[in-house]
This record gives sequence, C-alpha cells and structure tokens, in this order.
Amino acid sequence: MPSKVSKEVKPESMLLLPLGTAAAPEQELLCIFGTGDFGRSLGQRLLQSGYRVVYGSRRPHSCGPLPPGAQATSHEAAAQSAGLLFICIHREHYDFLEKLAPQLKGKVLVDVSNNLKMNLYPEANAEYLQRLVPGAHVVKVFNTLSAWALQNGPSDANRQVYLCGNGAEGKLAVAEVATKLGFTALDKGSLSAARELEDFPLKLFPEWRLPLHVAVGLTALFFFYVLIRDVIYAYVEQGKDMSFRIMVSLANKVFPIVSLIMLSLCYLPGVIAAFLQLYRGTKYRRFPDWLDRWMLCRKQLGLVALCFAFLHVLYTLIIPIRVECALSSRPGLIPLQGSSLWLI
Ligand code: NAP
Repeated sequence: MPSKVSKEVKPESMLLLPLGTAAAPEQELLCIFGTGDFGRSLGQRLLQSGYRVVYGSRRPHSCGPLPPGAQATSHEAAAQSAGLLFICIHREHYDFLEKLAPQLKGKVLVDVSNNLKMNLYPEANAEYLQRLVPGAHVVKVFNTLSAWALQNGPSDANRQVYLCGNGAEGKLAVAEVATKLGFTALDKGSLSAARELEDFPLKLFPEWRLPLHVAVGLTALFFFYVLIRDVIYAYVEQGKDMSFRIMVSLANKVFPIVSLIMLSLCYLPGVIAAFLQLYRGTKYRRFPDWLDRWMLCRKQLGLVALCFAFLHVLYTLIIPIRVECALSSRPGLIPLQGSSLWLI
C-alpha cells in the first residue's frame, strides 16, 4: 500500500517543467486613478513587480507619458476591470467617486492621500472616501512614502509602510501588494487610525520642540545672569565699561553651562526610569507621560548639547585671535585682567 505521505503535495513545492512548456501565470491587473506624480511612480513599481496596470483618468488619451506597458482608460472602465484600485488623487477631488459607487462596490480602494495641514478636515481622508463609497473596502497605505521614494524602491530607511482599514481581507490584499513591491506592511488597525497616518508626513522634527525651548530658555537665563554680574554690576559698582565682553566672552561663558545642563538632561531620564522600575519591581508598567516624553527626546537633547559644545570650542578659538589682533593694532596695549583672554 503506497504510503499516505507520498501522495501529499507539499504546498511549497514547485512543478519543474522545461522552459517554454509551462503556461505563464496570468499577472494580476491593478488599477490606478490619477496619472500624476504619485500614480506614475506607483504604476512603474507595480509593473516592475510583475503586475499589469490600468490607469483611470479624466483624459485617458492625453494624460501625458505613462510607464511603458500601462494602459489608460476612463474611470468607469478602469473601475470595472480591477479588484484593487489605488486612488492617487488629492482628497479635494474625491467627490466624483461617489457617482462610481456601484462600480466600486466590493472592491478594495487604496487611499494614499495626505493633507497640507493637520486637522484641515473634520474626518480623515480615508474615512471620507469610505463614506463616499460605503460598499468598498477602503485601506490606507503608502501615504508616508514620496513619489520619488516609491519609484526608486525601498531602501533600509523606508522599508516599513503603515496600513489601516476596516476589513481584514482588504488589508491582506494590500499587504500582499506592498510585500511584492519590497515593503514591510505594519497593520495600524481600523480606519480610525487613518488620521494618525495622515499626520505622519506633517510632523517635522516632532521631538525637537521641547529640547530647543529648554536650550533657548537656559541660554537666556544664564546670559542675563552673567550680563548682570560681569557688565552691569561692574559698571554700577566700579564704573568700568565691560560691554565689549558681551558678544564673545559672555556668550562663551553661557555655551558650556548650557551644553553641560543639556547633556545631563539627556542622561537623567534614563536614570530616573531605572530607579522607577526598581521601585515598582517591574519593567512592564508604563512610565508617567512626562517621563515618556522626556525619554523620547533624549537624542535631540544630546545633539543640542553637542551644538553648544561646538559653539564653545569655536568661540574659545576666536577669543585669542581677537586679542592678538587688538594687541597688534595697538602695540602699547597690555592685556588686563578684564580682557577676553583672561576670561578663557
Ligand atoms: P498630482 O501630480 O497633482 O496628480 C493628481 C492627479 O489627480 C492628476 O494627475 C489627475 O489625473 C487627477 N485629478 C486632478 N484633478 C482631478 C479631478 N478634479 N477629478 C479627478 N481626478 C483629478 O498629485 P500627486 O503628487 O500624484 O498626488 C496624488 C495623491 O498622492 C495625493 O492625494 C497626495 O496627497 C498623495 N501623495 C503624494 C505623494 C507625492 O510624493 N507626490 C506622496 C504621498 C502621497 P488625471 O488627469 O489622469 O485625471
């Protein structure tokens, strides 16, 4: 009796046939609405990854150069031809999709859109699209990539893409496409996460605000302190005019102080967090919000500290040059206790 195992077909196994005898598997057809920058870059990547691409355009015959191998047709015809459609159109122009709702029913609509500002609209673009076409499965993805990055393919720095949507099937289909394009899709949950994804590209230097505010505050504080102590006090008490020290010497006193404080602020939250974990006896509890925020901007605090240290080095090099110049221009001048050189 033949063994049961021998009859089983392993799912990973491939049927090896001589070249040319096997029928080529049919390539999946995907649709892209919009022939702009993003639509064209996406089309090119999809074609390179083995998909067929049809564009839905307002002007299919005069929409400009398309990636070789792609076709362009009307929105209606394109919508009927594919099961998965990328909407590469700005949100402001979505309203025409409402009329296409019958053709788009049951299809997966991929929203890649971003906005120019946060909270520009009451609902996320993807949620708006879902409201316009309630019968479709809207999935948000690729909005964190630029057309350029998409066209050039994933690099290590931007391999991850976030997706969200209400239906598991739609998300699975989109994740498969993303994987085939070379990306790693991370599921962020339901469509209610779309606003968070749409805000990602608008957050420039998100963790820099706090360190910069702290640095500016400390600089102002110490500058006024040394100004009062070294210039105003000297003028009032001894009648000496030390205002020439304001620009370089006083600034150079402030930079190392701020740099060292910023450096300690960079390491301090780690120590506090360690003590907190020891006190709680576990590392599996959330840190308080203030500590969490502080921890998140440690890298920025360290970089600001480095900038101030660099300024200190620069000013320290400038001061002797300044004094040298002053001495050479006035040969009778003798550096006094109050000179910049003395201050270093
Ligand atoms: P785009 O170059 O301006 O192209 C938009 C396309 O939308 C046009 O080529 C046009 O295609 C179509 N369109 C314009 N007005 C329309 C209307 N009234 N009705 C229907 N279709 C209209 O914009 P894009 O840079 O490709 O961006 C497209 C989407 O991708 C946007 O939502 C954007 O936020 C998102 N995105 C772009 C980038 C990027 O780097 N560019 C990055 C991330 C996300 P037809 O003439 O063929 O109809």
